[in-house]
Amino acid sequence: TREEPHYFGAGPAALPTSVLQQAAQDLINFKGLGLGIGEISHRDKNAINVIDETKSKLIELLEIPDTHEVFFLQGGATSGFSAIATNLLAHHAKKTGKRGKASYVITGGWSSKAYEEINRFGIESEILSNSKEIYGSFGKIQPFEEWNKPSEDSAFVYYCDNETVHGVEFPFVPQYENVEIVADLSSNILSKKIDVSKFGVIYAGAQKNVGLAGITIYIIKKSLLDQANDQELRDLSLPITPISFHFPTVVKQNSLYNTIPVFTVQILNLVLGKLIKDGGLNHQEALNLQKSSNLYDILDKYSDFYSLPVDKEFRSKMNVIFKTPSVELEDKFLEGAKEVKLTGLKGHRSVGGLRASLYNAVTVESTELLINFVERFAQENK
Ligand code: PMP
Repeated sequence: TREEPHYFGAGPAALPTSVLQQAAQDLINFKGLGLGIGEISHRDKNAINVIDETKSKLIELLEIPDTHEVFFLQGGATSGFSAIATNLLAHHAKKTGKRGKASYVITGGWSSKAYEEINRFGIESEILSNSKEIYGSFGKIQPFEEWNKPSEDSAFVYYCDNETVHGVEFPFVPQYENVEIVADLSSNILSKKIDVSKFGVIYAGAQKNVGLAGITIYIIKKSLLDQANDQELRDLSLPITPISFHFPTVVKQNSLYNTIPVFTVQILNLVLGKLIKDGGLNHQEALNLQKSSNLYDILDKYSDFYSLPVDKEFRSKMNVIFKTPSVELEDKFLEGAKEVKLTGLKGHRSVGGLRASLYNAVTVESTELLINFVERFAQENK
């Protein structure tokens, strides 16, 4: 076991100790089989149960409608940048017989990376809104009415619901009549209730809010699994998706087309089980709101000392970004925090400053300790 950590790392992030304890047992001897969950065949019924249980818990927690399918892939969210684009363009090709375009909304580092990646594939693309170009930095989201409209041949509109590096979270879900919405929820999935029916694809790497690195959750509208075949794609000069990322194949095989890391899925299963037992998303969302608003309140109270780069309306409830007046004070903050066992607070290397990630497993108690430290540090260093 371990002393309860007060860890605010952005990802991989802390998981509940009770989950890790159960997982450690499962890794050695799963349900008395005499073998660990990572050692049995991924096609064994015990492994299939783990996948099915995890899927049904996701369906329960997110109230996923019948129109949508859940599956899991390896490769992290990064591999989803291209996989989603090639799969959705293949659907668009099937539907229209034409090459489609991909539309992006750029609100921070992760949506930027997704956009860069599809350009490497030579996919035709357009930007509907780019916060940095409009406002000079990533601290705001342009009002939806002011975005460029997606072109007629747009296959999907892509956005990142919570920008982990820049601390910007969407307070709304963009909606169009004829274009599918794709959202990266890697750093806020299961932190709040969402209306899954509004999305064509939701995806999320597990290692921040819900599990370990090594598994990515996908929720897809079933109609998008109807795709042009390889020859049709070649005829349209569209990229062909590697088979292990080909959504129709993976879904058909219940996420078992190739070897899935079952242990990593089992951790997800345990985390979801705990979430349900503790009161589901209503309860978790209320806790997350309490944690983040208490922390933002204290940072605002000392706004002559701390600066916050994100506009109030778009402040992330998961990744709280702030700065002290100097780099020296930042180092002193990190040192002082460490002395009282508060860790993982350094900002992303690309933006500097400080970042407190308040994922589901970060308790109200840990957050209160951080809030006390933030206040004391301002009072002593103003
Ligand atoms: N999207 C977001 C919002 C992220 O925070 C991250 C990881 N920090 C990624 C994508 C990339 O995830 P991975 O490292 O699992 O590829």
